[in-house]
Amino acid sequence: MPINLVPETYRGRFAPSPTGPLHIGSLIAAIGSYLQARSQGGEWLVRMEDLDPPREVPGAADAILHTLECYGFEWDGPVLYQSQRTEAYLETLAQLRHEGHSYRCGCSRKAIAEAGERLGLPAGVYPGSCRNRHIAERQRHAIRLLLPEGEIDFVDGIQGRYGQRLEREVGDFVLRRADGLFAYQLAVVVDDAYQGITEVVRGSDLLDNTPRQIALQQVLGLPTPHYRHLPVVVNAQGQKLSKQTFAPALDDDNPLPALWLGLEFLGQRPIPELMEGEIDSLWRWAMDNWNSETIPRTLGRTLPAGPIKA
Ligand SMILES: [Zn+2]
Repeated sequence: MPINLVPETYRGRFAPSPTGPLHIGSLIAAIGSYLQARSQGGEWLVRMEDLDPPREVPGAADAILHTLECYGFEWDGPVLYQSQRTEAYLETLAQLRHEGHSYRCGCSRKAIAEAGERLGLPAGVYPGSCRNRHIAERQRHAIRLLLPEGEIDFVDGIQGRYGQRLEREVGDFVLRRADGLFAYQLAVVVDDAYQGITEVVRGSDLLDNTPRQIALQQVLGLPTPHYRHLPVVVNAQGQKLSKQTFAPALDDDNPLPALWLGLEFLGQRPIPELMEGEIDSLWRWAMDNWNSETIPRTLGRTLPAGPIKA
């Protein structure tokens, strides 16, 4: 067998949802994925996850890209917009249906909860009620993946081994919602493969989504990238920092403090002098000193205090 001596090109990505401006939490995911890619001479792509129009804020996608530019990020190639990927998602749904890996589900939320309760399943687990039901196309329905059997198990580059028995913990999950919106799981798997992503670096709030994505990759015969789930910012009560918890937008005119904090949060021990210099010298330092082994192996942590002036 020939041995492939050419290492595959590292390709990472940052995939924000345009539901508001970037905040320190999303900046940290951008910093982690960017440095992990650039420190290996790899490529870094940006994908706009704009699949949920009701939740989107007009102008947010452009504002996010503008902030990334102000903060000195340079991405490779054009930005991929999920809102323009409808055909690819429809093709994948057709393939799954054709191969018998998906089915229509006509259940209401209430019916799912009641069936789950009868079967003693944890809340939110879909019990597979429609696996053998015929739901006509004209009926209101979601499309679900027919889960393969067995446990999905992977080794995360930061969080270590992680596994789920999807049938018991999640159930056949939704690929397309009854209102016609494509599910996040479908879009992310199709697009990670389309963009040739070799490693996904993102917040730990998505760790428990990963087994679903791996299951879908396996069913579709797609490669599984490596995964590294960064700690996310939590407040003193342990809640994830988000728009809902009033995380402030980043200041486009003053990028150094947030970049410095992000590096510190990711265990990179930035020197205080970086706060005084140019953004380019901060990035140069960050790339030269990036060490993914010193990222704290925790799901969440509070933001560190700012740099102590020397
Ligand atoms: Zn159903």
